[in-house]
Amino acid sequence: MERDQFIAVPKNTIAVLQKHGFQFKKQLGQNFLIDMHVLDKIIRAADIGPGDICLEIGPGIGSLTQALCEATADDGRVYAVEIDDRLIPILEENLAAYPHVHIIHTDFMKIDLPAFFEEEKIDRPVKVVANLPYYITTPIIMALFESSVPLASVTVMVQEEVARRMQAKPGTKDYGALSLAVQYYAEPYIAAHVPPNCFMPRPNVGSAVIRLTRRPEPPVEVEDEKLMFKLIRAAFGQRRKTLVNAVTGSPELGGTIRLADGKDLKVSKETIAQALEEAGISQTIRGEALSLQQFAELTNVLAKQADH
Ligand code: SAM
Repeated sequence: MERDQFIAVPKNTIAVLQKHGFQFKKQLGQNFLIDMHVLDKIIRAADIGPGDICLEIGPGIGSLTQALCEATADDGRVYAVEIDDRLIPILEENLAAYPHVHIIHTDFMKIDLPAFFEEEKIDRPVKVVANLPYYITTPIIMALFESSVPLASVTVMVQEEVARRMQAKPGTKDYGALSLAVQYYAEPYIAAHVPPNCFMPRPNVGSAVIRLTRRPEPPVEVEDEKLMFKLIRAAFGQRRKTLVNAVTGSPELGGTIRLADGKDLKVSKETIAQALEEAGISQTIRGEALSLQQFAELTNVLAKQADH
């Protein structure tokens, strides 16, 4: 297809919006991509080629969807999940030339991903590509990784600051629960920085394209994943406090908690302090200084302390 015919060319986007009298809904994070170079960078970063199965969350008027359809060619498949009913007829019209696109009208957060993969007989790791609605970026990414469906990669446009947090290392100001959760499941790589003028309407902040390549195995061995993520959330819930105080003051972890193997763990200043000592970590450390490896070690020591 000629480049000037793509929906993402600004004059074509304007024509689609005018034809359908479309009004943006800010609460749905509707900022449509209007830059062909950024589109190229996303397709390259996600490494989309013929035969790929792609899943797009929030196709809007189909700007990115069209590029995915072109790159996957007829023997690939593109699933596009859009919540806004006003966009469904527009997508059907704009993408009528591509028999391998499946437009799905629903809230992505309501999809049972394992059931969906089975129903659609998805037999290859899927490449997720999206210009995400910013109000639910983190829940969408976590739902994808936690579902354990076969994903090759997740290449998404997010707010610049969120991309930095996903990549951040211990001891930096951007490091937090999101950095640890993302890096447990994937290797992050920022593929492009995208200024506000590449979207219609313009968002207030800069964006970035980040590729998260799923790891075949987590980089650390942890006996109780749920306990580790509870510790991480507690540690960063009150990040100015020491780990001992943040964890014992947390509503999720204070008192006694039931572990994955049915044992009960009593969380007190003494148990946390003792576990830190056993893991060889300073008693006065703050969560923001702990690496993923150290959170995993601490979790394993704590899980051992639990009673039947
Ligand atoms: N992909 C298009 C593009 O790049 O121009 C549109 C991206 S726009 C940032 C985000 C899109 O996600 C909007 O079309 C919005 O309606 C849709 N959306 C918002 N919340 C959603 C949800 N929970 N499930 C599915 N789509 C959603």
